[in-house]
Formats: sequence, C-alpha cells, structure tokens
Amino acid sequence: MNTQQLILTPWQAKRYEEQYRLVKRSVDARQRDIKVLLTLLTDIHGNPLPKDAPVPLYDEPQFKDVHNAEHQACIVGSGPAGLFAALTMLEHGVKPIIIERGKDVSARKRDIAKVSKNEGLNAESNYCFGEGGAGTFSDGKLFSRSKKRGNMQRVMELFHYFGAPDTVLYEAHAHIGSDCLPAIIRRMRECIISHGGEIHFNTLWSPADLALPTILAIGHSAHDTYRQLYNEGVAMEAKGCAMGVRVEHPQSLINTLMYHLTGQDRQHDEQLVSLLGNASYSLVTQVQGKGVYSFCMCPGGHIVPASSDKESCVVNGMSANRRNSPYANSGMVVECHPQGTALDALTWQENIEHTAWTEAQKIVVNPLSAAAPAQRLQDFVYGIRSESLPACSYLPDIVPSRLDKWLPKDVGPLLRQGFLDFERKHKGFLTNDAVVVGVESRSSSPIRLLRDKETYRSLSHPLLYPCGEGAGYAGGITSSALDGQNAATQLCLHVLNS
Ligand SMILES: Cc1cc2nc3c(=O)[nH]c(=O)nc-3n(C[C@H](O)[C@H](O)[C@H](O)COP(=O)(O)OP(=O)(O)OC[C@H]3O[C@@H](n4cnc5c(N)ncnc54)[C@H](O)[C@@H]3O)c2cc1C
Repeated sequence: MNTQQLILTPWQAKRYEEQYRLVKRSVDARQRDIKVLLTLLTDIHGNPLPKDAPVPLYDEPQFKDVHNAEHQACIVGSGPAGLFAALTMLEHGVKPIIIERGKDVSARKRDIAKVSKNEGLNAESNYCFGEGGAGTFSDGKLFSRSKKRGNMQRVMELFHYFGAPDTVLYEAHAHIGSDCLPAIIRRMRECIISHGGEIHFNTLWSPADLALPTILAIGHSAHDTYRQLYNEGVAMEAKGCAMGVRVEHPQSLINTLMYHLTGQDRQHDEQLVSLLGNASYSLVTQVQGKGVYSFCMCPGGHIVPASSDKESCVVNGMSANRRNSPYANSGMVVECHPQGTALDALTWQENIEHTAWTEAQKIVVNPLSAAAPAQRLQDFVYGIRSESLPACSYLPDIVPSRLDKWLPKDVGPLLRQGFLDFERKHKGFLTNDAVVVGVESRSSSPIRLLRDKETYRSLSHPLLYPCGEGAGYAGGITSSALDGQNAATQLCLHVLNS
C-alpha cells in the first residue's frame, strides 16, 4: 500500500478529508497550534487516490456454512468477546452456540429506558446484560492501549463490515456511538444465525452445563456465575482493578481547555470545534505510588446507570455517534489491589456499590430509583457539602452526598490529589460547575480466571476457555473482541485436530 503523510491545520485537513481516501487520521491538540495528521492512500506515483477510488477497503470475511458442521462449541455471553469468538468459529467452520442470559437488543432497550425513568432494574436485562454485552449502549470507543493482542485493524474492518461508519477504518480514536451500535450487533446476530450458528437469549448458563468446549465470555458483572465457578473449583485469583467516580463538566469548558480557546474570536472557536468535534481528554497522574487516571471519556455524552444488581449504584458513560450533548463525562479512577481470594475481591467491589446506593437512598427513599450520589467537584476536593448540584446528564437523578467522606480511604483522598494535579495541568478543570457521581467501579474486573498462555484453556477445567474483560484478559470493546477471537482460534484448532 502506498501512502502519503501530511501535517495540516484543521481547516486544510477538512479539504483533504472531503476529497481523498484516508488511511489514518489523528489530532494533536497538545499545543495551541492544533495539527491534524493525515495519512492518504496514493497510487504508485504518490498521487492521492480520490475518496471513491475503486480499491477495496479490505478483504471481506469468509464465513462458512455450519448448519451441518461436524464440530460445535458453546459460547457463554454475547458481548464483544462472545460475538467475535462466534464469527471466528464461522471462519473455521465450527458451529457456535451462544448462550446469553439477557434479552435481544430491542427488548433490552426497553428495560434500559425503565431504569432511567426510575421504574426499577431488571437484573437480567440492563446496561451490562443482554445482546451485545456491556458495549452495546456505550460510547463505542474502539481503541485499545494494547497493541500486542492481535490485529486491531481487522476488528475495525469487521465492525465496518457490519455497518459501523467509515471513520472506524482510519480514525486513531474511532468511536461508533450508542445510536449505531444496536443495529451493528443485530447484523452480527443475523450473520451468525444465517450461517447456521445459534443464539439462545434469556438463558442463564451455569458451570453444571459444561459438556462441550466452551468459550466463557461473561463480562465483569456476572458475580453470581463467578461465585458458582469458584465453588466448582475453577482456577481464579484476585487482580488489580480500578475504583472511582464519574466526573462531568460542561462540554464547552472542556472544549476551551483542550483546544486552548481564548474566547476572543468566537467565530474561529466555533469553527474549530465544528471541524474537530467536541474535545476529549486523557489524564493520568501518580499519587502515593498509585495511578489516578481518566477512563472511558465521553465527549458530548451522558452518564448512565450501569448496575446489574439491585441495591447497588454503578455509573458509566455513553454517547451518540455525533457526540452532541452539552456534557463531557469521564471515569476518574484509582488503581486498586483488592486483598484475599477472588471472592473477596468481588465482595469488596459489591460493598462499595452498595454503599453508593445506600447513600443515594438516604435522600430519595425509593428502592426503584437509580438516583446516584453526587458532589460538586471543588466541594469534593476541599471536603465541603454541596448545597445544590449543577445540571447533569444522568437521567435518573443525582442527589447531594459527601463522597469525600464515604469513598474508601485508598480511593477518595487519592482522587482528590489527582484532581488537584489535573487542575495544575489544565487551569479551570477543577470547578464547581463540574460534578462527581458515584461510583465508577466496573472499569475493570477485580478477578482473573487462570488459563494456559498458549491454549487459552482454564488451568483447572480444560473444556473451558475463559476470555474477555470479566476473565481478566481485556479492558474495553476492542481488546475483548480480540481476546474472543484468540480464544476461539485456539478452541477451533483443538476441536478440528482432535
Ligand atoms: C455504559 C458502558 C459504556 C462503555 N463504553 C465503552 C467504550 O466506549 N469503549 C470500550 O472499549 N469499552 C466500553 N465499555 C466497556 C466494554 O463494554 C466492555 O469492556 C466489553 O463489553 C467487555 O466485553 P466482554 O465480551 O468481555 O463482556 P460483556 O460485554 O460484559 O458481555 C458479557 C455477556 O455475558 C452475558 N452473561 C453473563 N453471565 C452469563 C451467564 N451466566 N449465562 C449467559 N450469559 C451470561 C451478559 O449478559 C453479557 O451480555 C463500556 C461499558 C459500559 C457498561
């Protein structure tokens, strides 16, 4: 492939983006003089190819018909790990049988709407459980810090093949959006079924059902199933994870800070934001030797109630493809190392989520409510009660609470120091126009299911292939999808050669 790299102003870049075929696009907003880095596809003479050049975007996947396949395997969970495992099996000619405790994506949407209206949580159908897994109603960010896990570009191509926008093929920080994801997930399901695979919704798998080679891709919220697996003697251990809050600012403030807007030339500022989109950020610091960092930032997004358990409060973030809400939210978390067994780690996480729920209930006194405890950002940092709260995107409601007092000692004080450091780097970030909402507890799994590095098989149960985020091998949509692909490849090699 012949390419040409250009470093341009956002205004220049726009013209190239409209005319030519892009291979990569990234924005460098670290300096006032913002640059857009474009890589264009060219012919052998170095001439950029037009957007509609008759050159295939990528090799289309070759899925085999497995209606009468000799080999079949079970996949538990239809999140990114489970779905990409199923697609990999189709490529190898092995029939995937997916077991999913939640509902299909349309029915799931209705249950999610009820939580936002404080009509109660369905513990089997929510932001974490159901078709497409935890990534279905999300910002759909498709980047991963880990480049070692496999072919990330192929994951983007598959998302594109099933209907994701062209940007996923070239944006350095691609995202799909919660308005586009459900249709993509539905097309994946239709492909799996039309080629002979099966998907069983509303079906709770338990270790007692372990008869076939099984990809275990149950995400990080299925604590009930992990407890059963633990009791069955499946090898697992506690691992490092993260805990914190979601912070939300007015998006206009984040645009000002991240794009260095001065407000002196309003037209220039507005044009810049329209060319680059609402700004995001990625912040990281060290406090007392522990990482404090932003996680899953959602420009123009919403904070959402992401608990899968009753009497528990968990928040996360999502945004639509256009990222056009007036709010910018992000997880702000502290690196944690829960002590004891895997079960102790699960209990540690549950206790904090239950505390957050109890704190909100002190004010709303309605067990159906998904209201979340919140505090203005400066008040949180300086230990002051918030008498009122700013407008917030979180639909079920936020209620004032002293998060600075009740967050665990190894989380709250470190977060407060972290925010002070972020203020030093971005003057204006620490403002009472921003609010922290609790708790951001499921940014990563607190446990790991032990598996063989080469074969991906559980160290205790050779029929079991633990993978994805919940098993402790991924963090996010892309890395979970890659891990699902890798586990399925190993499973297929095993069944096809035995
Ligand atoms: C609101 C929100 C926003 C997010 N935003 C992003 C983002 O922008 N970018 C990003 O990279 N990541 C994001 N994430 C994280 C991302 O969604 C997860 O990392 C990813 O979905 C993990 O994939 P997985 O396949 O390992 O597990 P999951 O997606 O969690 O899927 C597990 C599936 O297993 C099913 N299941 C569980 N137990 C059982 C059982 N016993 N029997 C049958 N089925 C079972 C569940 O119902 C679920 O569908 C977000 C998460 C949330 C909640």
